[in-house]
Amino acid sequence: MSNPQNNTTAGNPANTSCSINQPAACGTAHWQSKSDDEWKAILTPDQYRIARQAGTEQAFTGKYWNTKTPGTYCCACCGQELFSSDTKFDSGTGWPSFWQPLQAAAVREHSDTSYGMVRTEVQCARCGAHLGHVFSDGPKPTGLRYCMNSASLELKPR
Ligand SMILES: [Zn+2]
Repeated sequence: MSNPQNNTTAGNPANTSCSINQPAACGTAHWQSKSDDEWKAILTPDQYRIARQAGTEQAFTGKYWNTKTPGTYCCACCGQELFSSDTKFDSGTGWPSFWQPLQAAAVREHSDTSYGMVRTEVQCARCGAHLGHVFSDGPKPTGLRYCMNSASLELKPR
């Protein structure tokens, strides 16, 4: 299927022409090398503030907090598949909540001590987008609550 002669931009960090619609054309290094200006050009102001600057959308205002459409939630920045609607649950918080990522390797977690709280931040493992936080008060079987921002996600309906 792949023709090497038509594949000269893959993995080239200098290439800025890729878009969210062609995530397969870009590797991790490419996405992580994007500058703030490049992100601003491809994201909405809300997406940029939340996904690239670790912002938080107001509860009950995001586009997916109450969504029950079956499908796959992808990273709004790079298109990587992150969560399945099968693991989405109604947390009552006003943010889309999941009890498990699609694959453990799809997300990266690290300690976040901002605002005087100790929380675990969740990022997209491919592009580093801020997705939200994970808490340990979720439902079975994992007991986890991935509390995400709608602005960092893009639902691909099944
Ligand atoms: Zn991403």
